[in-house]
Amino acid sequence: MRLLNRLVVAAIPAVPKPVVRYFAGRYIAGETVQDAVNTVRALNAEGVCATLDVLGEDITSRDEAVASREQSNQVLHTIAREKLDSNLSIKLTSLGLKLDKNFCTENVREILRVAAGHNIFVRFDMEDSTCTTDTIAIFRTLHRDFPSTGIVLQAYMRRSEDDVLGLLEDRPNFRLCKGIYKEKKEIAFQTREEVQQNFIRLLELILKRNAYVGIATHDTVLVDAACGFIRTMGLRKDRFEFQMLLGVRPELRKRLVRDGHRVRLYVPFGEHWYGYSTRRFKENPEVAGYVFKALFVRNS
Ligand SMILES: Cc1cc2nc3c(=O)[nH]c(=O)nc-3n(C[C@H](O)[C@H](O)[C@H](O)COP(=O)(O)OP(=O)(O)OC[C@H]3O[C@@H](n4cnc5c(N)ncnc54)[C@H](O)[C@@H]3O)c2cc1C
Repeated sequence: MRLLNRLVVAAIPAVPKPVVRYFAGRYIAGETVQDAVNTVRALNAEGVCATLDVLGEDITSRDEAVASREQSNQVLHTIAREKLDSNLSIKLTSLGLKLDKNFCTENVREILRVAAGHNIFVRFDMEDSTCTTDTIAIFRTLHRDFPSTGIVLQAYMRRSEDDVLGLLEDRPNFRLCKGIYKEKKEIAFQTREEVQQNFIRLLELILKRNAYVGIATHDTVLVDAACGFIRTMGLRKDRFEFQMLLGVRPELRKRLVRDGHRVRLYVPFGEHWYGYSTRRFKENPEVAGYVFKALFVRNS
């Protein structure tokens, strides 16, 4: 599959944009805020909540970071006005993390001020390993003033256990996921089994320390392990939620909703869907395998 994935990635630029759009369509709500509202409304009607993510290009200037901040603020106003059951996820690089950390912190602070005015939770997504330390530091600075915020831990990172232990002091709201970027073996577990084991170890640690956790995975092994902890620890339903990506494994999502769990879908949208999709494929060719599968098995 590895070679196949690489071939698929190499072929993407030759595929006409409307065709990529058609197949990316199940993973992306659309280009406009109204597309996002329609998708979230349909999910809410199914008893599923959402986290909205505005897709952004890699930014290179302060003006672009400010534009990105304003887009996030517009989404927050829309969530409030439309009374959607949704929160917001943000990526710090789109708010200037690589330009100037203080400038980025102030952009995020501005978003959190708007969010707090509407009583909306904001999650800091975790990007590649060059961003981890700074993302956690900015989160810790702002979490004191804005407690309705959360952070992401990636189970493939060897450092994540230390990060959990450090962050527990702040009693944050965690999202635990495997991690999507290509990272070196010196800093990240590489095999599926190692990543699964670390995910389960971190999940147990977080739950035992009474922190809230979004269990972000479509991996049945991990969902089953989580359900085992929930049963044996007798966890109340307001201590955790399951999180999944729009368009991925809807049958698993329906099962979790039927079992009475809170389920949140990550809903990306925005005009930069094409750059976003192709960058994700290049960063991690494994993801291209899913798209390849979707080309042939529409109900996969
Ligand atoms: C809500 C949410 C938020 C996330 N936030 C971050 C983040 O902030 N930072 C970060 O690095 N990563 C993030 N991720 C991505 C995550 O790290 C994984 O890369 C991704 O979820 C795939 O891992 P998995 O646990 O689902 O297991 P996998 O073993 O990859 O997937 C299990 C099964 O799910 C299906 N599947 C999984 N992904 C897809 C797909 N894209 N298309 C079709 N089928 C698929 C396949 O059937 C696969 O066999 C997030 C994931 C979710 C669900």
